[in-house]
Amino acid sequence: MVNKHWIGYLLAVCLFLGAVVVLFYMAKYENIYQKNVSAITERAKTQIAYTRHQITQSENEIDAMLELLSQSHLLHDFVSDPTDANRQTVEASWSTFPARQYSLEQITYIDADGQEMAKASFLHHASVTQNQAYQDVSEASYFIRARQWPDKTQSPRQLELQQMGEEYIPHLYTVHPYSMHGVLQGYLAVRRNYADIQSDRESALKQQYIVSIITADGDFLQGRYRERLYGFALKERHKYNLSKTHPALWKKMHDRESGVFLSENGSLHIYSTVKVNYIEDLFLLISFPQSELVAQVEDDRSSAVQHALVMIILIVLCALPTAYLIFIYQRRSLESKLATAALNGMSAVLITDKNHHMVKVNREFESMTGYTEHQIRYGNVRKLLFDKRDPSGWFNIWEHVSREHLWEGELKVHGRAGVELTTITRIQALCDQDGKITNYIISLVDITERKELEERLRYLSERDGLTHLWNRRKFEEELRNETDLIQRYPENHISCLALVDIDNFKRINDERGHDEGDRVIRLVSHLLSENTRTTDFVARIGGEEFAIIMPHTGLSEAERVLNRIRSCIATDPRVFTTISIGVTDLTSDGTRSYKCADIALYESKAIGRNRTSVCHSSDEIA
Ligand code: GH3
Ligand code: MG
Ligand code: MG
Repeated sequence: MVNKHWIGYLLAVCLFLGAVVVLFYMAKYENIYQKNVSAITERAKTQIAYTRHQITQSENEIDAMLELLSQSHLLHDFVSDPTDANRQTVEASWSTFPARQYSLEQITYIDADGQEMAKASFLHHASVTQNQAYQDVSEASYFIRARQWPDKTQSPRQLELQQMGEEYIPHLYTVHPYSMHGVLQGYLAVRRNYADIQSDRESALKQQYIVSIITADGDFLQGRYRERLYGFALKERHKYNLSKTHPALWKKMHDRESGVFLSENGSLHIYSTVKVNYIEDLFLLISFPQSELVAQVEDDRSSAVQHALVMIILIVLCALPTAYLIFIYQRRSLESKLATAALNGMSAVLITDKNHHMVKVNREFESMTGYTEHQIRYGNVRKLLFDKRDPSGWFNIWEHVSREHLWEGELKVHGRAGVELTTITRIQALCDQDGKITNYIISLVDITERKELEERLRYLSERDGLTHLWNRRKFEEELRNETDLIQRYPENHISCLALVDIDNFKRINDERGHDEGDRVIRLVSHLLSENTRTTDFVARIGGEEFAIIMPHTGLSEAERVLNRIRSCIATDPRVFTTISIGVTDLTSDGTRSYKCADIALYESKAIGRNRTSVCHSSDEIA
C-alpha cells in the first residue's frame, strides 16, 4: 500500500516534469524547424534570382551575338557570293565563338527557303565539325516560326526535343532574320542545348537547390528529376505537368510573379517567372517535400531529442528523492495530524526527551496542570511536576521505568500555583534501536475529584455526623484490628477498651431541650478527644455512649487517664452532668472484652455514677 503510494507520487512528478520538458523541446524543435524553413527559403530565393538573372543575361547575349554575326562582312560576302571558300571562311570565323559559355551546339545560316548554307557545330564542346550535311530545314518548326514571325528585326525562339538514343536533348533555337539592303536573304540560327544551361552550377549545388525550369504550359524543361522532363514533347510525361500535379501552386505562380507557396501536404515551393526574349514566359521553381524539410533539421532535432532525454533522466533522478520526500512529508503530516487528534482526545499527555525536557504536550495537559507548553519549554519537567516533595519515592519510580520501560500508578502531580493533583500516571519509555531510552510518554488522568469524593464518602461512612468522632461501624472495625494484633502478638501487645455513658442524660434533654442535649454530647466528645492521646481511638457508639480503645496502655494506666477525663468533665460547668466509665484490658476476643467493659460500666452506674469501674479480662462474667 505504502509502496503503491510512493510509486504514484513518483509517476505523478515524473509525468508532470516530463511533460514540461517535452513541451519545452517541442517548442524548441518547432523553432528550429521554422528557422530552418526560413533559411531554406532565403537560399532558394537567392538561387532562383541568380538563375533568373543568368537566363535573362544569356538570352540577351545570344541576341547580341546574333546581331554581331549578322553584321559580319564575312557573312555578307558569303551570302552575296556563296562559294565554298566564303563558306569556309564564315564557318571558321564562327568557330572562334565561346560556344561553351552559351551551351552552343550549332550556328547555321539558312537561306530564305530553308536550306542550310553554312554551319558550325560545337557538339560535346569539341572543336568545330566541318563538312556536315547541309540540310533542308524548311519543315522544321523553328524555321517555320521564324518565317512567320512578323517583326523581321527580332529573333524568335523555339524549343525542340531531340532524341539521341536513350537520351533526350532539349534544343532551343534562336533564329535571326538576315537581310541585305532591306531584303530578307535568309536566317542565322543558333542551337543551344538547354539541358546544359545550368549544368556547371548544378554540380556545385546541393541537389535540393537545383532550379526547375518550367515552360509556360507547365512542363518541366529542367529539374532534379530527369524522368519528369520534357512533358511538352513526350506524351507519357504529360502527367508531370505542374498544372496537374500542383494546381494550387500553378495558379499562385500565375497570380504573382514570384513568391513562396506552402502546399497542403507540407511541401515548400519557391518560384519566380522569367521573361525570355520572344518566347512565352518560363517559370523557375525550387520545391522541397516536407520529408526533406524534416530531414534538413534532423541533426538539430536529434540533438534536441538527446537534450530532452538527458533532461528526463535528470528529472527522474531528481524526482525519485523528491517524490520520496513528498511522500514522507505527507505521511508525517498525516501522522502528526492523527497523533495530535489522538493526543488531544485523550488524557493529558506529556512527551519528553531522555533528559526530561518537554517535547510535546497536549491541550488536556495544559488545562490539567495549568502550565502552557511555552512555560515548560525549558527546564526539567520531571522535577517541576513530580519530584518536588518526594524525591526518594520518585527515584524508585524512575528506576523502575529505566528497567521495565513502563510504570503505572497513582501519583501526586504538582500543578501551577501549588495545585496538587492526584493522578493515575502511566510512564512509558521509548527506546532507539540500541535499546537506549530516547523519550518518555507520560499520560496523566486526573482523579483528584474522584479521590476527594472517595475521601468524603469514607469520612461519612466512618464518622459520626454530630460529633465527628469515629462511628460505631468504624469502632467495630478498629476493635477487630486491635484484637487481631493482640492475637498475633499476645505477649507484646496490650490495649484497653473503655465504654463511657453520660449520666442522667434524659434529664438534660428534658430540662434543657434536645439541642442543648446535642451540644452536651458534642462537648463531651470534644473533651474525650482532647484528653486522650492521638493514638487512642475515640468513637461515639450510641446516643450518649462512647468507646475508647487505648493501644499500648495497661489497665491501671487506662484507669488513671479515664478518671482524669471523668473529673475533667465533672468539673466542667458547661456539661451539667457527669460520665460513667467501664474499662477492661483487651483480649483477642473482642465480643467478650466489650461485654467486660459494659459490665464495668453497669457497675459504675449501679454504684452511683460518675465513676470508673474496672473489669479484668480474667474476671468471671456471665
Ligand atoms: P443513665 O444515667 O442511667 O444513663 O440515665 P440516662 O438518662 O442517661 O438514661 P439513658 O442512657 O438510658 O438515656 C439515653 C437518652 O439519651 C435517651 C435519648 O432520648 C437520649 N438521646 C439519645 N441520643 C440522643 C441524641 O443524639 N441527642 C439528644 N439530645 N438526646 C439523645
Ligand atoms: Mg446515660
Ligand atoms: Mg445510655
